[in-house]
Amino acid sequence: MSKVFITSALPYANGPIHLGHLRSTYVPADIYARYNRMNDCDVLFVCATDEHGTPIAVRAEATGKSPKEIADEYHKIIKDDLDSCNISFDYFSRTTDPVHYELSQKFFLKLYKKGYIYEKMIKQPYCHECERFLPDRYVEGTCPYCKGEARGDHCEVCGRHLEPTQIEEPACLICNSSPEIKESKHYFFKLSHFQEYVGEWINENKELPPNVRNYALQWIKDGLKDWILTRDMEWGIPVPLEDAEGKVLYVWVDALIGYLSSAMLWSRKENKPWKDYWNDRAIHFIGKDIIYHHSIFWPAMLKGYGCKPPSNIVAGEYLSLEGKKMSTSKNWVIWASEFLEKFDSDILRYYLIVNAPLTRDTDFSWNDFQRRVNDELADVLGNFLHRTFSFTGRFFNSEIPEPAEFDDYDKEFEDRIAEIPEIVSGFIEQFKFREGLIEIIRLAKFANKYFNDKEPWKAVKEKPDEAANCLYLCNQLAKTFSVILTPYIPVKAPQIMEIMNLHGFETSKWESAAEFIPAGNKINKAKPLFSKIDDSVIEKEKEALYKNLKDDDEMKDIISIEDFAKIDLRIGEVINADRVEGSDNLLKLRVNVEEKKLQIVAGLAKKYSPEELKGKKVVVLVNLKPAKLFGIKSEGMILATSDNLSVLSADNAKIGEKIK
Ligand SMILES: [Zn+2]
Ligand SMILES: [Zn+2]
Repeated sequence: MSKVFITSALPYANGPIHLGHLRSTYVPADIYARYNRMNDCDVLFVCATDEHGTPIAVRAEATGKSPKEIADEYHKIIKDDLDSCNISFDYFSRTTDPVHYELSQKFFLKLYKKGYIYEKMIKQPYCHECERFLPDRYVEGTCPYCKGEARGDHCEVCGRHLEPTQIEEPACLICNSSPEIKESKHYFFKLSHFQEYVGEWINENKELPPNVRNYALQWIKDGLKDWILTRDMEWGIPVPLEDAEGKVLYVWVDALIGYLSSAMLWSRKENKPWKDYWNDRAIHFIGKDIIYHHSIFWPAMLKGYGCKPPSNIVAGEYLSLEGKKMSTSKNWVIWASEFLEKFDSDILRYYLIVNAPLTRDTDFSWNDFQRRVNDELADVLGNFLHRTFSFTGRFFNSEIPEPAEFDDYDKEFEDRIAEIPEIVSGFIEQFKFREGLIEIIRLAKFANKYFNDKEPWKAVKEKPDEAANCLYLCNQLAKTFSVILTPYIPVKAPQIMEIMNLHGFETSKWESAAEFIPAGNKINKAKPLFSKIDDSVIEKEKEALYKNLKDDDEMKDIISIEDFAKIDLRIGEVINADRVEGSDNLLKLRVNVEEKKLQIVAGLAKKYSPEELKGKKVVVLVNLKPAKLFGIKSEGMILATSDNLSVLSADNAKIGEKIK
């Protein structure tokens, strides 16, 4: 029996699962795993929560919990989310498992001993107040390219990757003081050494989908740079070398190894070896944002360690929501748990797959979701199944009728039933899950037309043979659907089998899809499988979505009348001003208010150029909760400038002074 090792990207344990995750990664991987299991392939489908890295450490500090507590909390939430969408992992572990620590350290040591890891002193921001280095998100400041808000290794506005020393006006996330640049010893992976190997692997691997191949080839063309493997922080897997105290593995290094440690944990539990699975065929399902890590860095690490590269990488593109980019900070998102409280997981799986090919960005819209469910699942597929079963019940004593001689129309239908399993499997094997589903719906449409044309409700009295042929064939298609829909809709498909009295559906095989059931088989009472969604339900969901949106561009309603007495107004001086990309009115200011420097986004660009504002005195409302405008943190509000408030232009106006 052939084996396959299937993984889906490790969800990061600081937030729940949303529909975008399900669409790009988890549902496609699950369809593929289920399909392979039905095809006599021995499947090992693993995943884990990714629990290291600065976002979790930062969240822990902000909430007074330990990073492990944050990870514990989200591991459970994420696992429940994925379970409720019926993602059929064989093992779902955690990167805080001791087995994972052991394997990650072993991986590092082996690469180190083979000479693929070297030490280098590099410049890192260091906070004197906090007495520590500030890795990744621990430092905030300005992006040198777009002047947007930079958080550690990443610009929130233009999305560029940044070196920590590139950040302008850096500030410690914890205490807001400005860090100094200090030397620190770090460990680098000789990725450049693997340039040729990875390039060849990508060029020769004809199975790689075009989106993965094209991104990867571009990086190869640009030349691979060595990768820093370590961070100066406590939360993470310690670097297993004597003189590396205080250093941990970078979260991306251990996250990838998480695929293997999860398999090891499965192997210990099941008492079966896992390596054969990897060596036979290994397929990663990921989102497109992490193609680099999987197509470049991971094959090189594996080569260095002495392991085969993965066989394939399938990268799902993004899902937007009602035409706008999803944003968890703006609450412009649909969480899996909230969705699945109200709707069946199968209709969600159906919609996320049928909506667009995996290799294309697409949009979730409530109206389109309703249309697809009502028109395709209820009216086409559901209607076909229901009329087949209820007609068989009413006119054929709940038995599949004995067929007579087929006419050409029957024969055409019979051929199409016989062909559909192979058509769908052809698509699934090429990861074209949507195309397979569309063929199924197309055949269901044809079947409804056939049913209408054959008019069995009339024929049953006048030409009983024709009615028998019609219902014989419709039942055969229902049975075929129950098998080939299983990977897509694993709850509803077995319900079709139950109605048809087919036992052993838990272990149904793909090859059985084309086998016809003998006439005379009894079926159970029909029950509707897919119901329509009411307009009122959709309207309610849309209303809730817009109501929950935290629209950052709206500053009104921030201060209530009661709060007015508590406001703290200070005199400040603009040190720096920059335009905010994408807005014709917003400027990003750095304002000195004596004891602290605030970053404020203000709608002043129509009145002032950035140059004109520099050095101007302003009245600042300082005790506002930090908000975000255009993705940029804003820590106060400018209420007046020296041009419209004479007190500010007076020589004795003192920076930091409180205004009554
Ligand atoms: Zn930027
Ligand atoms: Zn600090």
